[in-house]
Amino acid sequence: MSRTLFVTTALPYANGPFHIGHIMEYIQADIWVRFQRMRGNTVHFVGADDAHGAPIMIAAEKAGKTPQEFVAEIAGGRKQYLDGFHISFDNWHSTDSPENTELSQDIYRKLKAKGLIATKTIEQFYDPVKGMFLPDRYIKGECPVCHSQDQYGDACEVCSSVYAPTELISPYSTLTGAAPVMKSSEHYFFKLSDPQCVDFLKSWTGGERLQSQVANKAREWLEGDSGLADWDISRDEPYFGIPIPDAPGKYFYVWLDAPVGYLASLKNYCARAGIDFAALLKDPETEQIHFIGKDIIYFHTLFWPAMLKFADYKVPDRVYVHGFMTVKSEKMSKSRGTGISPLKYLAIGMNAEWLRYYIAAKLNSNVEDVDFIPDDFIARVNSDLIGKYVNIASRCAGFVTKKFGGKLDAPQFSPEITAAYSGAAAEIAAFYETREYGKAARKIMELADLANQYVDANKPWELAKQAGQEAQLHAVCSTALALFRELTLYLKPILPHLAEQAEKLLNVAPMAWSDAWKPLAAGHQINAYTHLMARVDPKLLDTLLPPEEAAEPAPAKAVAKAAAKPATKAEAKPADAAGAGLISIDDFAKVDLRIARIVNAEHVEGAEKLIKITLDVGEEKPRTVFAGIKSAYDPGTLIGKHTVMVANLAPRKMKFGLSEGMILAASDPAGKHPGLFILQPHQGALPGMKVK
Ligand SMILES: [Zn+2]
Repeated sequence: MSRTLFVTTALPYANGPFHIGHIMEYIQADIWVRFQRMRGNTVHFVGADDAHGAPIMIAAEKAGKTPQEFVAEIAGGRKQYLDGFHISFDNWHSTDSPENTELSQDIYRKLKAKGLIATKTIEQFYDPVKGMFLPDRYIKGECPVCHSQDQYGDACEVCSSVYAPTELISPYSTLTGAAPVMKSSEHYFFKLSDPQCVDFLKSWTGGERLQSQVANKAREWLEGDSGLADWDISRDEPYFGIPIPDAPGKYFYVWLDAPVGYLASLKNYCARAGIDFAALLKDPETEQIHFIGKDIIYFHTLFWPAMLKFADYKVPDRVYVHGFMTVKSEKMSKSRGTGISPLKYLAIGMNAEWLRYYIAAKLNSNVEDVDFIPDDFIARVNSDLIGKYVNIASRCAGFVTKKFGGKLDAPQFSPEITAAYSGAAAEIAAFYETREYGKAARKIMELADLANQYVDANKPWELAKQAGQEAQLHAVCSTALALFRELTLYLKPILPHLAEQAEKLLNVAPMAWSDAWKPLAAGHQINAYTHLMARVDPKLLDTLLPPEEAAEPAPAKAVAKAAAKPATKAEAKPADAAGAGLISIDDFAKVDLRIARIVNAEHVEGAEKLIKITLDVGEEKPRTVFAGIKSAYDPGTLIGKHTVMVANLAPRKMKFGLSEGMILAASDPAGKHPGLFILQPHQGALPGMKVK
């Protein structure tokens, strides 16, 4: 009764690195996937970069690169995140791939043959200088309501009015500054309003495939007064995308080919793994499951299933929707960046499994946001993982090694423990299956409490001092380690690396779910206890989440150590992992370090930690950087000095203005030696010189 599962996470847009929301989704899906693998099911877990569209085309052009080069660079950075957080994808691919072109065009041709593609001429703003149609986000102008300047084409950030770009007063293209003109063009539409599409979607969204909140939302769209509108799936050249067959100069809109990327990644993986892709998809037993965020429900419950259905492809069996990740109840803003930088999390030596456990403990099967609360994070990790779980092994394994040559005795379970543990695997499995990870974590910690009560009641550390108690000590430690083994198995989907270490300690092969409640026999040899996991040092949270949420306060650490993160599956070591991993010269070369002269430095009104610094980097215009060094420097003393800056850091909009880079400073990550020390080159270095 083994299942075959094709599991995906939403494809990240390849215009920037992962943020914590991506990592949360990957952790949620990865726990589910690891659980399924432990059950003996076959899982094909794939991801890919969503590479196409105008934003990437334009960003690449600005960076002086081809879109392919631009996307390849972003893709090159993915591995350190995925490995760092123990995400076990079988394949990572790209929507800019031969597989995706072939599949997208095939789907389109089949929809067209069914009469579900229509064309219509529409009028749109066009940048006459750039020679391209302008997506709304590249048009700005004066708000027609409150007359604020420089507002976007779809909504005013000042008065929150929503309008059409044509309503803007004195609109201009943000690409060239030119006044856009109206121009007509023929567009291709997927006829979602066709009765057969509507009927199919009504039935598809009505089953068990969707969480009830999601199904309700989809039905609102389907049954609303306006009904489903036809979907504009074409864009005119120049566009970075997949050409529409038999339509010169027309490309698929990025949202058409993005989800097809799920299939493209699977196909690419199948070719490498020797699996028959067509047969796998055709097999009615194959379950297709998408993990996504609540912001893309529309695409995944309407467009995507309809595309697949009418192109005679397999339709999704489940769409599992999660909420967003918030930090201290604040929603993270895409433009300001996110409250937690996942790379910084790893770079400062925080253990990836702390976050995996914390997120798991807060997740349920509903579409709810997960709030990261630093004190709660510290408390849960330290009290649950260290205090309840690791503690069992650390208190008992040493005695077995020292006093009994590492050999276990037969465990002696009390009726209470037998009752609680013997049926637990089935209950916990049901929680994992339904993504009720919080309930799974609570149940496991209840079981851990029982194990600790047993150890506390029998006090092995006292038995060890008493003559004639060897047999009792042996039995108590062996029993406790048997319970530790059970807990390890239950926690393994959430804590794969820690479980691996525990398996090494117990000297057992990688455990499957079917190994539950099969205690090790008397005489089984275990290995010597080695440190399993460190406690969370609260200071790490201060480094991770500086009060002003500035990127700057720990500049040297953030950059130098981020680059030093190993690209292997090596564990993020507790605290002080600097230099633990090696990088290639190419990785280092990505960081553009330049000599900068501090032209001006001044206090920022209202900022507790920041100094505003103007830097001459040998460019036409000086750069502005906000640095979190107020505690260490009086601005006046900095003027005229030379320092080192990261010149190719994406500009960051902060509360007090735009920060266009980062200057380097040294500090002790453990906080034992206070202070911040700006780097200064030897005499003779000039602004703009490259540091390598
Ligand atoms: Zn306005």
